[in-house]
Amino acid sequence: MAALSTAAQRRLASSSAAGPRRGARLVARVAEPLAQPNSGSSSFSSSSAADASLLARAGLPPTTTPYDDFKFAPIREAAVSRAMTRRYFRDLDEFAESDVVIVGAGSAGLACAYELGKVAPHLKIAMMEQSVAPGGGAWLGGQLFSAMVVRKPAHLMLDELEVPYEDDGDYVVVRHAALLTSTLMSHVLKNPNVKLFNAVAVEDLIVKPDDTVAGGRRVAGVVTNWSLVAQAHGTQSCMDPNVMEAGVVVSACGHDGPFGATSVKRLARLGMVPGGEVPGMGALDMEAAEGAIVGGTREVVPGMVLTGMELAEVDGSPRMGPTFGAMIVSGRRAAHVALAVLEKKRRAAAAAAKGGSTVEAAAAAL
Ligand SMILES: Cc1cc2nc3c(=O)[nH]c(=O)nc-3n(C[C@H](O)[C@H](O)[C@H](O)COP(=O)(O)OP(=O)(O)OC[C@H]3O[C@@H](n4cnc5c(N)ncnc54)[C@H](O)[C@@H]3O)c2cc1C
Repeated sequence: MAALSTAAQRRLASSSAAGPRRGARLVARVAEPLAQPNSGSSSFSSSSAADASLLARAGLPPTTTPYDDFKFAPIREAAVSRAMTRRYFRDLDEFAESDVVIVGAGSAGLACAYELGKVAPHLKIAMMEQSVAPGGGAWLGGQLFSAMVVRKPAHLMLDELEVPYEDDGDYVVVRHAALLTSTLMSHVLKNPNVKLFNAVAVEDLIVKPDDTVAGGRRVAGVVTNWSLVAQAHGTQSCMDPNVMEAGVVVSACGHDGPFGATSVKRLARLGMVPGGEVPGMGALDMEAAEGAIVGGTREVVPGMVLTGMELAEVDGSPRMGPTFGAMIVSGRRAAHVALAVLEKKRRAAAAAAKGGSTVEAAAAAL
């Protein structure tokens, strides 16, 4: 409540000391004349008068809150520590072999996890995010603006998530990008089969020989480290990473930057990028860029699906600036491509288990 005169504050304080019912009556008495227009003599604003009469109608004196008698259940420090560490280490144990590892929890990675949660909620999905805060570049629109533009028909996911927007014809505008990002994230994280490991960087890839695939090598997981440790590699020695095997890796690291495009840069150094090098994203062309990202979403090398702006790095396709439809649809598409990769792998393993030759296993995987 704002702008109470000193006299009014004294009256209210003495009324609350005298007990709730008396205080409520006093507020009603004070508020009623002040609610009349042009009363002139009062320092109450009309809105604080309305607040006061609301409290009075609720039978509450102004100093009473529903939490005045709040009392916490008891706790011990060791219990807090165990509650966190037991779960984290159980997760590390469980997700050491994941069905899908998504690298990067920006808009494309989150959209992928969302779609997987919808169509394959039984899969074990680990999301690796180097930043403490997941969400990547999707907390703001463009530059440092608030609104987020989503080109139709990518907005259909907003309808599913019940995120409100203004319809501007060919595109919709979410009043604040953070509204979409936080809603998407909360949907993803409610899925018990999704584990977000934030503040964990993917430093490298696990790559295994595989005679059943083109090129004879398959991405089989990720090499991880606490981000703070990864950042300290130049100043410390002997800080070996951790590892996580995956049926398929979906890389959504975003475009090049201090942490971006990790997977494609590593694939290039391993000689696994078709054409041998990562050309980097092309110049901005909104009209062309979004279709190129969605259309290009694919298993770029055996075992790894690429989605979002990281794709533009390997394809040299144009950047699109602050329109987010492509990230959403590319992420969703990547989920289905990832499922197809898992299915191919399952068929190849089944053929091999039946004693088939490598060629037969490869044929089964097609
Ligand atoms: C200078 C600048 C220019 C930009 N220009 C464009 C543009 O032209 N077009 C455009 O679409 N967007 C642009 N953006 C940002 C835009 O907001 C994001 O590119 C967009 O959100 C892409 O979504 P994404 O999901 O592909 O990647 P991002 O939103 O970038 O998300 C990638 C996520 O992966 C995480 N990550 C990266 N590497 C690792 C790793 N090794 N281990 C774990 N996590 C990792 C990041 O922390 C991040 O959360 C620009 C941003 C900047 C800063």
